[in-house]
Amino acid sequence: MKRVLILFALGVLVTSFIQNFARKAAASGAPDDPRIARVMRILRDGVSATTEEQIRITEIPAPPFQESARAAYMKKLLTGAGLRVETDDTGNVIGEWPGTSPEIIMIAAHMDTVFPAGTDVRVKREGGRLLAPGISDNGTGLAALVALSNAFRDAKIKTNRTILFVADVGEEGEGNLRGMRALAEAYKKRLKYVLALDGSAIEYVTTSALASRRVEITITGPGGHSWSDFGAPNPIHAMGRGIARFVTVHVSESPRTSFNVGEIEGGTSVNSIPASAQMKVDLRSESESELAAIEGHLRDAVKAGIDEEMSAARERGMAGSANLLNLKINVLGVRPAGELPENSPLLAALLTADTQLGNRSRRERSSTDANIPLSMGIHAISLGAGGRSGGAHTLDEWYDPTGRELGLQRVALAVLSLAGLEP
Ligand SMILES: [Zn+2]
Repeated sequence: MKRVLILFALGVLVTSFIQNFARKAAASGAPDDPRIARVMRILRDGVSATTEEQIRITEIPAPPFQESARAAYMKKLLTGAGLRVETDDTGNVIGEWPGTSPEIIMIAAHMDTVFPAGTDVRVKREGGRLLAPGISDNGTGLAALVALSNAFRDAKIKTNRTILFVADVGEEGEGNLRGMRALAEAYKKRLKYVLALDGSAIEYVTTSALASRRVEITITGPGGHSWSDFGAPNPIHAMGRGIARFVTVHVSESPRTSFNVGEIEGGTSVNSIPASAQMKVDLRSESESELAAIEGHLRDAVKAGIDEEMSAARERGMAGSANLLNLKINVLGVRPAGELPENSPLLAALLTADTQLGNRSRRERSSTDANIPLSMGIHAISLGAGGRSGGAHTLDEWYDPTGRELGLQRVALAVLSLAGLEP
């Protein structure tokens, strides 16, 4: 009898614990809340409207440093979703979904593309595929911002934390993450989590930020005639000597480190000694110290190349005070490294969403908008917003919206569980 009583008491305890837990889970936005189910349904039913919006966004050109036309359109769309929208001095469009708490969850998607002004960005349809430069990177992320904010409004969601839906500038190339830098700086005191929506892929999530540096090196000299001034120091020869030294550098496989001389320029004609030579070099590493080491090696190699060219000029009697080479090194971009903590609630929320949707994702390291908050100790990830795509950063880029609802629902589940639902 005593034993039965104890078992009964235990049973009551366990039941009340489970009920309590379920109540708490519901309050923080568990999937059984009817409002969450409504958001899931709205996102699924709205897939083709989202794709049509993606086409309209993609067809507004957004070359590097020229995002303003697309920004104006994004402002209109986010305002239409019922958000308070403003554009900051950097050009970011910020739509606020006010919560009861000032703490912020930011969902960001970059507006800029890598394509120069004049690129044909009209979207062509081929079977189930959409083709256009920038259609997925980052038409997918921008369309997702619109779909999510509309779904939250239509499902009459109320959240504890404030959500910022942000279309940001300057993610690609020499934009040097300037949009996210400004956002992180402006909101750092209240910013809890950042989700950067970039492209389509949902089979991985970026949780580590790859450090990178982009360097422009210019060597200038006196120039001259290829025959009558022969022997004078030649900037292209000096740069060639420097590159030949640099590229033999041994880089570590772990932490993985890479280098690339990606652009080279200089000279005016085949029979002139050029007055200048210029190159752009991209350096990346999983480790800040490896990155610093390889940058040091690059600088040393270029200086040694110049010394070698000058000593050749001296041997030919052409190294007078008017015949010197000058070196200028200009850092074009710095992307800091960073790591999402293993026990981050942001990662837990995303993995839970994956489980709920039957999705599997692996973790990756990459260079994205998430680099900036991660380097400041703010929890951030970069992830795709659903569908399939290929050919990013090429004129043959394509997007297939099949299955995009999964990507949208995944973001919504993670964000709503982090934001917490208010009754
Ligand atoms: Zn992108």
